[in-house]
Amino acid sequence: MNYSEIAPKTDTEVDLTDKVILITGAGAGIGAELAITAASKGATVLLLGRTEEKLNTVYDAIIAQGCPEPVVIPMDLSKLDEQQANQLSHQIGDAFGRLDGLVHNASLLGKLGPIANTNLSEWSQVMSVNAFAPVVLTKALLPLLNESPAASILFTSSSVGKQGRAFWGAYAASKFATEGIAQILAAETESNENVRVNCINPGATATAMRRAAFPGESPDTIASTASLMPAYCFLLSDASKHLHGRSIDLQR
Ligand code: NDP
Repeated sequence: MNYSEIAPKTDTEVDLTDKVILITGAGAGIGAELAITAASKGATVLLLGRTEEKLNTVYDAIIAQGCPEPVVIPMDLSKLDEQQANQLSHQIGDAFGRLDGLVHNASLLGKLGPIANTNLSEWSQVMSVNAFAPVVLTKALLPLLNESPAASILFTSSSVGKQGRAFWGAYAASKFATEGIAQILAAETESNENVRVNCINPGATATAMRRAAFPGESPDTIASTASLMPAYCFLLSDASKHLHGRSIDLQR
């Protein structure tokens, strides 16, 4: 479904005050923009990513705005195991007692090309970051999400996760898996009033990943990360409490 079908009819300011939201891939692109925007709306954001320096830059931007102090969580999702995820869950539990939002945003594009020539260890790494780590994290964090009165889990898909396309290899396969995982979890939490699960496709957006996939494209011809923020914040706020099990295209 398209976001326009569910978007709020009025321009009311979305409030994320006191929400504790973990964002993966928070050091760059959409994740960094979301972290700074969600913090500006009152959320305490937990910044998870693999490059500590980038996370620190986002941390500094949030502090400079006078927003709630974020938490930096340097973590390479390609190496995430259950023990590490459980440890993270305990740390968040000790500090906050609950989790109100979990945005599975981090992804690797990998090298595009035909399956006939694919490098299998690279395929496996893309699947680990994009499709396996979200399951490991979700499993470990569900108890904390259940402690929230209205937790929102967002998985991140792509157009190539809905219709197979030549040369998009592991990235596309991982996004098909993501759509499936979101559907499965949504079905399993159907009667859970505390947790909702949705999958979003941001659509073509000017980031490093998009530049890598389409090097000849001018960033001015596609969406900016900032333009997506009203939709992301709405889907993390209590105003979207009724939305569950949807696969949402943020752009037309
Ligand atoms: P970017 O490449 O700009 O950012 C991706 C983020 O994921 C980076 O912060 C990166 O960290 C992090 N990341 C990558 N690998 C790991 C890892 N092993 N462990 C931890 N963090 C990691 O991508 P976008 O902002 O464009 O993409 C955000 C999401 O939106 C992705 O899921 C993508 O698939 C999806 N999407 C994007 C579209 C677009 O046009 N931009 C279109 C459709 C979907 P680091 O910077 O340290 O490498």
